[in-house]
Amino acid sequence: MRHYDCKNYINLDCEKGMCALCKAIVPIDGENSNACPKFKPADKCSNCKNFSKPDKYGIGICTGLEKENWTYSSMNACTCSGYEAR
Ligand code: SF4
Ligand code: SF4
Repeated sequence: MRHYDCKNYINLDCEKGMCALCKAIVPIDGENSNACPKFKPADKCSNCKNFSKPDKYGIGICTGLEKENWTYSSMNACTCSGYEAR
């Protein structure tokens, strides 16, 4: 897991973000991008019980809203009314 996948990650730009806990600047990927022991999974479709069958591009099926539809696994779910953490 990477900082980028953590609930405490605040995106700053396309290369880096900040940790809301320790206030460190952390990279999205590459060197030093691995998560720390305080990692908490971010609210994303990939972490939702209503997400299934992702293809090789991370596009899967959402069954948590009024109509079944496709969605990206990386979609931010912080405002989704159907989000249910796995
Ligand atoms: S809690 Fe750990 S894994 Fe999460 S953003 Fe902060 S340093 Fe990264
Ligand atoms: S219910 Fe919301 S968070 Fe869950 S898979 Fe569907 S769109 Fe994503």
